[in-house]
Amino acid sequence: NAKAEGRNTWRFYNEAMDQANTDKFNLLQRIRDALKNNEFKLYYQPKICLKQEAVLGAEALLRWPQPDGSFINPADVIELAERSGLILELGSWVLQQACSDCQYWQQQGFPAVKVAVNLSPIQFRDGRLEQTVLTALRHSGLAPEALELELTESLLIDNSDFVQQQLARLGALGITFAIDDFGTGYSNLSYLRQFNASSLKVDKSFISSLSVSLRDEPLVRAIIQLAKSLELTTVAEGVEDTATFTMLQQLGCDAAQGYLWSPAVPAEQFIQYLQCKR
Ligand code: C2E
Ligand code: MG
Ligand code: MG
Ligand code: MG
Repeated sequence: NAKAEGRNTWRFYNEAMDQANTDKFNLLQRIRDALKNNEFKLYYQPKICLKQEAVLGAEALLRWPQPDGSFINPADVIELAERSGLILELGSWVLQQACSDCQYWQQQGFPAVKVAVNLSPIQFRDGRLEQTVLTALRHSGLAPEALELELTESLLIDNSDFVQQQLARLGALGITFAIDDFGTGYSNLSYLRQFNASSLKVDKSFISSLSVSLRDEPLVRAIIQLAKSLELTTVAEGVEDTATFTMLQQLGCDAAQGYLWSPAVPAEQFIQYLQCKR
């Protein structure tokens, strides 16, 4: 009957929730261990200048390889790390590793190649970010001008003095900022006035169907125009085919990333990529 069925549904739901929580708890414990045992890797995806098709730098992307050759979804790892506070430790490892890898590329004959690191808003809330960044730069010997920090709109919209001051101090060091996933967050763009970013990364959801759907073209065109009027450069994410590449060039987009050139690859492979593009 309906009553018993309702109860069963409830019980099933409850058990599923318990299972989900247990899974998350286990994953969190495994993330802790992985951090301790140095199991995380940074992979690098080239950022390409659309005028000369030259490599401007690379975005560092977190990877957690598993014994069977698969990877745990980085977005899941980040989300759990954010909720548990572990993102502070993970984030400072990422900064340290990315800066020393970039310093190595520069020493190997690519002095103009930059590195971009994704930051979580939690890292700003903590208050020790500036120190963490300074330490990573000092230990690696990387020039601050070679480091770009990728921020999300959710951080910028927050617009607290605390965040603003940290951004200003990091900017004063010579570090540059990119606004990641632009266009997916908020419609209130007033943060663009207060905050000194150097580039906008157009979210891949606008780019992926650019060459097949006519609907995205006016949007991407408008974002590029907006960026230009604010003297920001534009970077398109998720470029997978030459038709999209050509359209972006015509629209005046400055740079791009995507499988058309390369997915994120291990550091050793990225330097090989630099060598063969030279
Ligand atoms: P994101 O910063 O927007 O990174 C771009 C994502 O698009 C990456 O996914 C990249 O692998 C993927 N991608 C690049 N080119 C293409 C393409 O041509 N087609 C398609 N379909 N996808 C492409 P990934 O590596 O899974 O990372 C997902 C998100 O996780 C990142 O989005 C970023 O928000 C976060 N993340 C990754 N590493 C870190 C990290 O070290 N720290 C923090 N805080 N977040 C990170
Ligand atoms: Mg990014
Ligand atoms: Mg993005
Ligand atoms: Mg994204």
